[in-house]
Amino acid sequence: MMVNLEDIVVKQGGVETTPCDCCGTKTRLVKGDLVLADEWIGFYWVRWTEGHPDVLPIFHLGTGNWSDTADVSDRWVVAVEYHKDLEGFHAVDFEQKGTSATYLDRQNWVGSSFAAEAFAMFDAVFMKDDRLTELHP
Ligand SMILES: [Zn+2]
Repeated sequence: MMVNLEDIVVKQGGVETTPCDCCGTKTRLVKGDLVLADEWIGFYWVRWTEGHPDVLPIFHLGTGNWSDTADVSDRWVVAVEYHKDLEGFHAVDFEQKGTSATYLDRQNWVGSSFAAEAFAMFDAVFMKDDRLTELHP
């Protein structure tokens, strides 16, 4: 699959706002779907906390085959943190993994042929979901 950032359509989904456990500032979770040439290619969720520069915004991406009949090994989830000072993403490992998909730690996808697609999708989310503008440098 050839994925270009400019061709990816970002469909903004739900938003959840919850008070941070430690200080009560707002933790935001925004969700959405990604479409390329009228085909669904993935979904995402992004979480960050206002007033917590120590906690980096984290972006999750689910892609692959998420149909009911697909195998767990066909559904992939990857995650990156956004580093404002570097203006870029850094792939991260999972502290917790679900069981309904394959959660790829960074060594399992960074440097693979899939990485360019995944980073194009993260870039599309970052640039095209207008709820994330407060994260922009
Ligand atoms: Zn807090």
